[in-house]
Amino acid sequence: MSETLESSVQFLKGVGPRRAALYERLGVRTIEDLLHHYPRAWQDRHETADLRLPTATGLVVARGRVLRAGAFGAGPRLALYKATLATARGKVECVWFKHLSRRFDVFSALKEEVKEGADLWVVGRADPDLAGIREIRVDEHYPLSNERWRVHVGRLTPVYALTEGLSQRFTRELAFAAVEAHADAAVDAVPAELAATRRLLAAPQALRGLHFPRSEAELEAARQRMAYEELLLLELAWTLKRRQTGGLDKPHRYEVKRTLLSPFRAGLGFTLTAAQKRVINEIFDDLRRAPPMTRLLQGDVGSGKTVVALSALLLAVENGGQGALMAPTEILAEQHRATLDRFLKNLPVRVASLTSRSPKKERDKILARVAAGEVDILVGTHALLEEDVRFKSLRLAVIDEQHRFGVRQRTTLRQKGSLIDLLVMTATPIPRTLALALYGDLEISTIDEMPPGRTPIKTALASEEEAFAAVRRETAAGRQAYVVFPIIEESAALDLRSAKAEYERLRAEVFPDLKVALIHGAMPGRAKAQAMEEFVRGRAQVLVATQVIEVGIDVPNATVMVVQNADRFGLASLHQLRGRIGRGAAQSSCYLVGEARTPQARARLDTLAATTDGFRIGEEDLKLRGPGELLGVAQSGELSLLVADLVKDAALLSNARADAAALLAADPKLLRAEHALLRRRLLALYQSRWNWIDLA
Ligand code: ADP
Ligand code: MG
Repeated sequence: MSETLESSVQFLKGVGPRRAALYERLGVRTIEDLLHHYPRAWQDRHETADLRLPTATGLVVARGRVLRAGAFGAGPRLALYKATLATARGKVECVWFKHLSRRFDVFSALKEEVKEGADLWVVGRADPDLAGIREIRVDEHYPLSNERWRVHVGRLTPVYALTEGLSQRFTRELAFAAVEAHADAAVDAVPAELAATRRLLAAPQALRGLHFPRSEAELEAARQRMAYEELLLLELAWTLKRRQTGGLDKPHRYEVKRTLLSPFRAGLGFTLTAAQKRVINEIFDDLRRAPPMTRLLQGDVGSGKTVVALSALLLAVENGGQGALMAPTEILAEQHRATLDRFLKNLPVRVASLTSRSPKKERDKILARVAAGEVDILVGTHALLEEDVRFKSLRLAVIDEQHRFGVRQRTTLRQKGSLIDLLVMTATPIPRTLALALYGDLEISTIDEMPPGRTPIKTALASEEEAFAAVRRETAAGRQAYVVFPIIEESAALDLRSAKAEYERLRAEVFPDLKVALIHGAMPGRAKAQAMEEFVRGRAQVLVATQVIEVGIDVPNATVMVVQNADRFGLASLHQLRGRIGRGAAQSSCYLVGEARTPQARARLDTLAATTDGFRIGEEDLKLRGPGELLGVAQSGELSLLVADLVKDAALLSNARADAAALLAADPKLLRAEHALLRRRLLALYQSRWNWIDLA
């Protein structure tokens, strides 16, 4: 064979230019790419042991001899092909469904392969609730006369991500051929010394084990080897990134002048907590250093991150610079705007806001003022990222609820100034090791203390009656309540309560004597703002809402949170929703209504009832969901992790981190021959993608 790892897949047997184009869509161009196009799952396709019992997955694999077979009509368009298979575990009926064609005999191949006396593997589905399996609806079958069956059945079988036009069968056979012919040529990116100390499989072995494992143990060893490599590359990238940023020297300097900060503090109406003071100091120390700041501020819902952010923004403004404050939703951006207006009322600070619904004329005006330096702090949503938003002298950007944004968006905002400082905030705290892997270029500050005078929130799983009785009690005492639903509109497919329908019911039947307002994400911005306004001003006593109020709403007079179909919300969301209450001194209560239909849902609700500690909740959430889901596809995709799992592979991760540091200490630019491949992979993964790393 003359192909090398760098050859195009086009030259592999059976591929050709048409399929090569399809593979390109999957990011596979060379044979090496193909080897690294790992399965997305593995199916246990050993022969199903007991055909009398339903299998857990519904998948059935049988092997036997065809006793009789034939085609049947089943309708104008559909035909069936049936065969009786005698297996070592009993007889079973197999059925194939085919759409009829006028042009050719859809069963010609079947008639050839599935005929009396033929030995066969079949893979298919059977109804799991049958007492015994009598009929298998066949998805795939493989005659024993053709050795290729070994690729597909009687083993742990890989399942690949596909694209239209590529079949699983073809993809699997090509992967098999590629592994057979080329895995031995695969070179280890992990240096030999490390592979030895960490007892890792060699690359060829790992590739074989990952694509066509002979056992679960082999698969896990292979996965760990590949996961380690991914984590090593990630940690190298972060380490380099940190080193690079640390060497930069930003053009602006800060001096704590207190011309704005002092009157701001004096006008707050409360004193900062010790934790707030500590993190403000950490941030100010960063701001005064030469390299641009990249800091993550973690703090539970209601811990008072906004005044911390505002202090930093004011320092920038005191020094003649501009600041930006970006939030993921319009509601939150508007809430921030209102907070700024309140706290900066008597200060010479010019604030403007920009969202996607700002009218064009107003937008143009604001953009012109921002570009001329006539706006000191610009608040907004993703709208801030647009290309025509240009600052005269942006020095500091703050991103709230940063887990809702991706790395790229962070970078875009950052590029709106020259080496600006960046503060990102989150109320979804995660363990430090994980935070470092996800945001490896960030320093971390944590607010671990709540402002004084808060009475801890009571949380209970409750019936609707109990919850609504509480709403009545509290509103009679002059307080306000939220009632939250999982969906906006009723849907035939989902047996869930919807905000719109329930709003009508609550308004007309349940609380006819109260003013009830409605807010949800599909409402026009103006209507949303109006509903918020009514609730903030206390004119509405009950706010019916969807998850849109999860972040940013700050109404200290609200003391009741009712979450309907609570089992349908994620843990972090429930915690955020609960964080809308308990913002004043009065006792607040959260009622979770709805039964938990799965053990996970039960675990979520129990966790929430048991603790209000955001860190504990964050950890539980990670355990229940894994980081991919928790952090959003955008973010986890950008990390280029195919097989590594930041939670499950925590031990590998800490090894990889230590190894990356040692590697770069010994060979700062990865110029040694034994690091050549590592360097190439690193640049391929992270330089072009994040425009991150500079190894020149
Ligand atoms: P989060 O960290 O969730 O963003 P916020 O910044 O919205 O929290 O603060 C929650 C509420 O607590 C706001 O009403 C804010 O004004 C108030 N707050 C912040 N710091 C203090 C403090 N030190 N003492 C009393 N109230 C505070
Ligand atoms: Mg906040």
